[in-house]
Amino acid sequence: MGIVLPVLVYLSGCCCCGGPGPEEKHHDEATVMSLLYQQRAAEYRALCLQAFNLARARVDEALKNAHARKLAIITDLDETALDNSVSGAWVYFHDTTNSFPLLLQWWLKGIADSVPGSVSFFTYAFSKGVDVYYVSNRPDSSAIVKATMKNMKSLGFPLTGDNDSSHFLFLKPHTKFNSKEARRKYVEGIDSVIVYLGDNLADLDASFDGVSREDRRVQVDRLAGMFGGRYIVFPNAVYGDWENAMYRGFRGVGSPSLRQRDSMRRELLDTMGKDF
Ligand SMILES: [Mg+2]
Repeated sequence: MGIVLPVLVYLSGCCCCGGPGPEEKHHDEATVMSLLYQQRAAEYRALCLQAFNLARARVDEALKNAHARKLAIITDLDETALDNSVSGAWVYFHDTTNSFPLLLQWWLKGIADSVPGSVSFFTYAFSKGVDVYYVSNRPDSSAIVKATMKNMKSLGFPLTGDNDSSHFLFLKPHTKFNSKEARRKYVEGIDSVIVYLGDNLADLDASFDGVSREDRRVQVDRLAGMFGGRYIVFPNAVYGDWENAMYRGFRGVGSPSLRQRDSMRRELLDTMGKDF
């Protein structure tokens, strides 16, 4: 899903890589197992709870110490706080890669579920006076912000007020690489940030903005000590920059078609160059 499915493009923060590809009507079979993992695997649920347990430990540690400034959490929304796997299933069954109209409907309906453990974690942090900033690459339109807030309120997320969107920092148009760095810096200028939460590495650190597949791994190794500490990563096998990076370097016209993406995916499967 990723580069061609605007669902993923937007959620993963990579719409800079290209808009919808040429009209194409094929189910993307590769998404089925990923969506099932998110929707059905108890392991997915356990990984999310593990991530929020780590985040809570970081919050508790921070609360033990005195701080000159208010404490804060910076979190991504999609596939970190909100579970959009139903929209991915919609896209699959609608047999199209031009999913942007569906995605807009999905956002405006405000019917996403919560990621396991998210509501209780954010409610806990909020109850301790920690600021929670939702830094998302959903488009910064008042209708989408309002629908998102309504969705989150119905799920039980803590909000600073029904009409207070000051903690919802969505994507302004023409942001380079859809980077969240400026929004992180803004929050860091106000509060003392304890942890960063996200399913996409670019949710956590600018080192992952617009880099190649190989460099993403290099940067992960460089930042190895941060994961589980200030950086808490969530599982997302459905979409993300990890997928977009596989198609970077595509030399066709426009975005790669589903057939071309499928071919590139197969080329990247590692068989150690051998048959067994
Ligand atoms: Mg996300």
